[in-house]
Amino acid sequence: MGPVPGISSESRAAVTASELPARASVVVVGGGVIGLSTAYHLARAGVPDVLLLERDELGSGSTCRAAGGVRAQFSDVVNIELGQRSLRTFETFEREFGQDIDLRQVGYLFLLDQPHQVEAFERNVVIQNELGVASRMIDAAEAKRLSPLIETKGLLAAAWSPHDGHCTPESVVLGYARAARGAGARLVRGCVVNGIVTDDSTITAVETSRGTVATDAVICAAGAWSGQVGNLAGVDLPVVPLRRQILTTEPMAGLDPHTPFTIDFSSSFYFHGEGPGLLLGMSDPDEEPGFRLGRSDAWLPRLGEAIEHRAPRIAEVGIAGGWAGLYEMTPDHNGLVGEATDVSRFLYAAGFSGHGFLMGPAIGEVMRDLYLGNRPVVDVSGLDVRRFADSTIRPELNIV
Ligand SMILES: Cc1cc2nc3c(=O)[nH]c(=O)nc-3n(C[C@H](O)[C@H](O)[C@H](O)COP(=O)(O)OP(=O)(O)OC[C@H]3O[C@@H](n4cnc5c(N)ncnc54)[C@H](O)[C@@H]3O)c2cc1C
Repeated sequence: MGPVPGISSESRAAVTASELPARASVVVVGGGVIGLSTAYHLARAGVPDVLLLERDELGSGSTCRAAGGVRAQFSDVVNIELGQRSLRTFETFEREFGQDIDLRQVGYLFLLDQPHQVEAFERNVVIQNELGVASRMIDAAEAKRLSPLIETKGLLAAAWSPHDGHCTPESVVLGYARAARGAGARLVRGCVVNGIVTDDSTITAVETSRGTVATDAVICAAGAWSGQVGNLAGVDLPVVPLRRQILTTEPMAGLDPHTPFTIDFSSSFYFHGEGPGLLLGMSDPDEEPGFRLGRSDAWLPRLGEAIEHRAPRIAEVGIAGGWAGLYEMTPDHNGLVGEATDVSRFLYAAGFSGHGFLMGPAIGEVMRDLYLGNRPVVDVSGLDVRRFADSTIRPELNIV
């Protein structure tokens, strides 16, 4: 059994449950990194009576099940900007929030064995460099020097971004939760939002498992469950849950502490250092959408093949644990960020398709700006859900 998701009981004591108020100026639905960062930034900007409702424990959805990867190495400009802005927050997180997040800027290394991949990553690196990201294309020998566990057979090139890396989601959750409460936001755990009341397309209240709260604004940050929350307000948010699994290994002798977050792009197999061992993951093309969270062994033969092919030394180390979580997929693998037009003051930040942890810091700032009617710190207009109606989808290619 892997770590129990959500912040520990010891940590929870610092983030005690609050009573449900009768009224809130804005209700944030969901206590993952997106909701917590949003609640923090709203309260810090002086918005009174910010209320965050989480049906379970803070971080217990996808956030505390993430691999912790943080990066700016994307194909889409908006994701590069969101990733880069968030990285700057992760870099200063301990100073700003008084919380060590074990940030390891060991870099992200995409291993490429197909000519079309190399062409696409070369184009992406040009865009990333224009936006100030220090990524570059490297050859197989340099990739091996950076990530000594890999086998270079068949590798054509790699894309390397040295300032990317990974950190600990539970610590980020704890830092934001404490800061949000300190800034005056109320965080209520164990409270399910099961209704959004409207009057002539204007929100008037949310109904919850613990009573009704009058409000005229709702921000949906419900991760993989955002489709359901959107439905409560009559807003179509095309977010589909998809199970993904992770394994951790026993301690690995001689493991290079600088091992990058290494991704074999063709198979989607990835690994990074996790304590004295490794964290391993890979997508399963046979996985059907759904809210299943149990672990299954069906993906292991494919994972074993990928390990044998690309990093065979990893096959020699024992498995210590693992867990399953949900990606929150959209049709073009890009997030949904904006404000509904048919319902007054229903805002949403969801559907980050497996890269929402790393976007949490910047998305919180963006949601604050959208709520206040200010120009967002990053131009997210292309992430409005109406892009699907207009057929102007914008696929993000750099996800695994
Ligand atoms: C195996 C795995 C590995 C991943 N690795 C990475 C990675 O390396 N880097 C990265 O950036 N991302 C990664 N992700 C994706 C990342 O975890 C998500 O994109 C991110 O956590 C989304 O955050 P969130 O706050 O939107 O959602 P969540 O953390 O899921 O939070 C949503 C919350 O809403 C609550 N909720 C839902 N419905 C209701 C309701 N009706 N009432 C009240 N509360 C409700 C849920 O309980 C949940 O806690 C990974 C995901 C998985 C599963």
